[in-house]
Amino acid sequence: MSGSLQLETEIRERIAQEGPMSIAEFMNICLTHPTHGYYTTRNPLGGRGTNSATKGDFITAPEVSQMFGELIGVWCMQMWQQLGEPDEFNLVEIGPGRGTLMSDLLRATKSMEAFSNAARITLVEISPTLKEQQRETLAGHTIDWLDDVNALPKRPTLIIANELLDTLPFHQWIKIEGQWLERAVATRDEKLIFATRAARLDVDMLPAEHDLLPDGKIFETSPAREAYISTISQRLNETTGAALFIDYGHLGSGFGDTFQAIKDHAYSSPLENLGSSDLTSHVDFAPLLNTAKDGQCSTVEPVSQADFLLNMGLLERAGQLGASKSEAVQNGLTNDVKRLAADDEMGKLFKVMAFGKILQDQITFPGFSKPE
Ligand code: SAH
Repeated sequence: MSGSLQLETEIRERIAQEGPMSIAEFMNICLTHPTHGYYTTRNPLGGRGTNSATKGDFITAPEVSQMFGELIGVWCMQMWQQLGEPDEFNLVEIGPGRGTLMSDLLRATKSMEAFSNAARITLVEISPTLKEQQRETLAGHTIDWLDDVNALPKRPTLIIANELLDTLPFHQWIKIEGQWLERAVATRDEKLIFATRAARLDVDMLPAEHDLLPDGKIFETSPAREAYISTISQRLNETTGAALFIDYGHLGSGFGDTFQAIKDHAYSSPLENLGSSDLTSHVDFAPLLNTAKDGQCSTVEPVSQADFLLNMGLLERAGQLGASKSEAVQNGLTNDVKRLAADDEMGKLFKVMAFGKILQDQITFPGFSKPE
């Protein structure tokens, strides 16, 4: 029996015993099941230099261009300066994929020796396959791997994460006869279907217009994402430091179904190909920003990926890399800039959120407002 079928059988048995399963639990099992889970067993990412369009299930910004990791390197260096240039700090990436972003970041900051020497690099990763790839990509660097951010040594800390939050489980709520019930996975005729289960949402969590909406509307929540941001903000409040989270999603809470499955660069049904397609949803940044504030961190209004990268100097960096290079190289760079920052590519859908804490002065987050 294939891994997908075994996973489906296991899920159907669980539903037979316990009743309809929340989307969060379904997602958690499909992505992280120890023997058949998507992230535990597969190599999801297409990468630069590997004929990327045909490999993996999806491609991320660091795999599009080295400029992404380089500009995040500049962000980290500027934050480290605001932290008072500590002799030792944790440089942490959560969910580093193939290790490409960190590799570009480290190369871009190499000439700033005090920063490089002070950085204690730590990667937080759940996938054994990707850990191996990270080890290869980052050969020559001293790196620690942790399963949990709580285990980080207590010192000033910079944290970055690209496309991590969307992989963390979320719940869906659906309006039926005026009530918000939890959407769930159930079985009918040996098949998985969407149904509801006996859990209700506290309507205080909903945007005000919920009363006016017709039946069938969907709202999404993610206690797992909030818990992640809560842990990190409390940690940064204690040790000083800053965090940068980049992901696709929206800045204000809204209604709609964003549950998606991706396999071989195409959308598929979340209830098929269990364990072999990537399950995600759009990230709602509004509750996450509040969570960071509750953790006593300074925050800034999140911005689009396009604004962030342009403010950090994307065009200038592309200009440097293309100077006196062939037309083919320059066209490639123009293409990369478009993929990262154009409205109809990653520029608008992806958002960037930062929060942190320094001891003196007001913290300034680079990239969140245009340089003067
Ligand atoms: N940041 C990379 C990869 C994004 S894919 C890039 O931009 O290319 C999501 C990554 O998060 C993968 O490395 C995956 O294995 C990891 N991941 C998923 N859930 C995680 C969790 N709970 N803790 C740590 N890493 C996780």
